[in-house]
Amino acid sequence: MMAESSKPVAATGLRGKLRRHEPMARHTSWRVGGPADRCFEPADIEDLAAYLRQLPADEPVLWVGLGSNLLVRDGGLRGSVILTGGVLDGIERPGDTIIKFGAGVPCAKVARHCANAGLAGAEFLVGIPGTMGGALAMNAGAFGGETWSLVSAVETMDCQGRVRLRQTTDYRVAYRSVQGPANEWFIAAHLRLRPGDVNAGVARIRELLARRSETQPTGVASCGSVFRNPPGDFAGRLIESCGLKGHCIGGACVSEKHANFIVNAGRATAADIEALIVHVRESVERERGVRLEPEVHIVGEREPAPEQVTHD
Ligand SMILES: Cc1cc2nc3c(=O)[nH]c(=O)nc-3n(C[C@H](O)[C@H](O)[C@H](O)COP(=O)(O)OP(=O)(O)OC[C@H]3O[C@@H](n4cnc5c(N)ncnc54)[C@H](O)[C@@H]3O)c2cc1C
Repeated sequence: MMAESSKPVAATGLRGKLRRHEPMARHTSWRVGGPADRCFEPADIEDLAAYLRQLPADEPVLWVGLGSNLLVRDGGLRGSVILTGGVLDGIERPGDTIIKFGAGVPCAKVARHCANAGLAGAEFLVGIPGTMGGALAMNAGAFGGETWSLVSAVETMDCQGRVRLRQTTDYRVAYRSVQGPANEWFIAAHLRLRPGDVNAGVARIRELLARRSETQPTGVASCGSVFRNPPGDFAGRLIESCGLKGHCIGGACVSEKHANFIVNAGRATAADIEALIVHVRESVERERGVRLEPEVHIVGEREPAPEQVTHD
């Protein structure tokens, strides 16, 4: 068990919102997760840089967009969470076919903005319920499109609040995986689009949303696909073939509609969800000989920090 990271964080001169012991269940699409020691929602880029500069050098920092690919354990997170969703939301057009999106812009807005500007290529982002920054971190993709196939450059911030413009060659990008310089996070993406037609873009968006609602559970708390597809196969097909659709542990259930989704059926804890992930993984490995790798990022402590434990 780790104690709360209690080193002093000066928090002077900040304009954003700094909350202590903030339940991460409020910031994840699974609606589970214990408290973060500190949760900072910056007012803007300068405010964010000022916050990062004030942190002790060994403060753990986790950037969170819309928490749509994140399982935060019930004991919460030590250190600082930086919330970008709803902030870092600037949109600029530095070139005819290049648009710069702040890391906090929702993917759906990226898709619609490009389509309405008569630029093609970003339509697939419309149904991905995360931010531009989260899409960069995950190389999010759907219906044959992938985030990094659009990226011409990214802007990053390091733990000293320094901003850099980086080229795609600074990153190793693969299916749902991106590796780049350590201790740097995305603050903006420059996307290169193709000239297109507004009506065709809007129609394509409508079509992709319809296809999604036919095949995926909507209106329930989930994190999208839990496991990456193994080479040449589909995680959902393998899980379904093991008879796991509808299997529940506590309040966490494998979706009846799409076997690679785990839904919070009401009162799930992060421990329920993680136990179900382990169960699915072990079942598929035992019965089909395939070891599935989680796509969702699992973070945080299983137990609360000692100061948070309450006694009846
Ligand atoms: C219903 C549903 C459907 C989904 N469908 C798809 C789909 O079709 N395709 C797909 O790829 N995904 C899908 N997802 C998963 C998820 O939406 C994507 O992975 C998305 O890109 C995550 O974005 P986010 O802002 O929510 O990131 P978060 O969940 O907040 O964070 C995910 C990871 O990215 C890191 N991160 C976030 N922001 C930054 C930043 N600015 N800089 C550096 N690191 C950062 C976090 O630390 C974390 O490790 C779906 C999820 C749901 C709930």
